[in-house]
Amino acid sequence: MKDYFIGVDLGGTKILTALSNEQGDILNQVYIPTEAEKGQDYVIDNIIKSIDSLLEEENIGREDIKRIGIGSPGPLNIREGLIYEAPNLNWKNVPIGRILEERTGIKVNLENDANAAALGEKYFGAGKDVDNMIYITVSTGIGGGIIIDNKLLHGVKDTAGEIGHMVIMVDGPLCGCGNRGCFEAVASGTAISKKARELAASKPDSLLYKLVEGELAKIDGKILAEAAEKGDELALKIWDEEAYHLGIGIANLLNIFNPEAIILGGGVMKSLDLFKDKMMETLKEYAFASAYNSVEIRKAALGSEVGAKGAIAVAMGG
Ligand SMILES: [Zn+2]
Repeated sequence: MKDYFIGVDLGGTKILTALSNEQGDILNQVYIPTEAEKGQDYVIDNIIKSIDSLLEEENIGREDIKRIGIGSPGPLNIREGLIYEAPNLNWKNVPIGRILEERTGIKVNLENDANAAALGEKYFGAGKDVDNMIYITVSTGIGGGIIIDNKLLHGVKDTAGEIGHMVIMVDGPLCGCGNRGCFEAVASGTAISKKARELAASKPDSLLYKLVEGELAKIDGKILAEAAEKGDELALKIWDEEAYHLGIGIANLLNIFNPEAIILGGGVMKSLDLFKDKMMETLKEYAFASAYNSVEIRKAALGSEVGAKGAIAVAMGG
C-alpha cells in the first residue's frame, strides 16, 4: 500500500526531510546541513540518506511511499523536475526530479519554495476553506504563490507568481533582479531595514537610533516594530510607508485575480497589527470595490512548519 508521502524542503543552509501519512500529518522529520560547497552529488546523496533514515525509523519501505515533493529555490521546470538555477546551492540545470526518481524508485514532484508554501497553506493552513487565494511571504525578499479555482498558477515556463518582482514604483530602488522599483525592492524586510538605517543615520535623537546605540546595522524588522510600538516617529513613518506599498502591491493582485483570501506570511507579517489598518485603507482606495469586498486578509497559519508542510503538499498535489 502506497500510503505515505515524503517532503523535502531544499534550502541553502539546511535541508528538511519529512515523512507524512496519507492525510499529510507529519510522522517524523530530520534536518541536515546542506553543505552545498561539497557539490551536487554530495547534497543529493544526503537527501537520499535522510529519506532512508526516516523510513528505517518508522519501519516503512520505499515501496510504501506514494510520492516525494520537493520545495526548492527556483527558477525551475516542474514538468521535467529540473532546477535551472539555485544560486544558494550553486546549482545549474540539475535534474533533481529524475535523479531522485531513478535512485529511489519513487515519483517526484518539484515546485519552487514559494509555490510550495502556498500549497502548504492551502492544504493545511489558512487557505483550507478557499479555492482562490494568494500567498505572500514578506521577509528578506517577497515571494508568493497564486491559487485560482483550486489550481496553482504556473504559466508556460513555470515562472508565474513572481509577486516580488511586480514593479510598484517606477524608477524606485534597484532590485536584485536588475529592475527598479520591484515590490521586493520597496517593501521586503531587507528594503525597509535599509531605508530605516539611512533615515536613522541623520536622526541620532530618534528612539530607533538609541535602541541600537548607533549601531545602525542592527536595525531590522524586530527593532523597527519595537521602536514603533514605543511611538518613535521615524519608525512609525517607515511602517506607514510599508503599509502603503504593501497595499498598492496587494491591490494590484486583487484587481487581477479576485481572490477570496490573501494569506500573509514571513517575518515582516509578525508586525501586521502595526500597519494593517493603513494597509486596508490603501487596498480600499486602489482595488475595485467588488474585489476588495470579497477578500479576506489573513495571517499565514503554518509558521515555521511551512517548509515541511509545503513540501508534503507538493507531494500530495500531483
Ligand atoms: Zn525584481
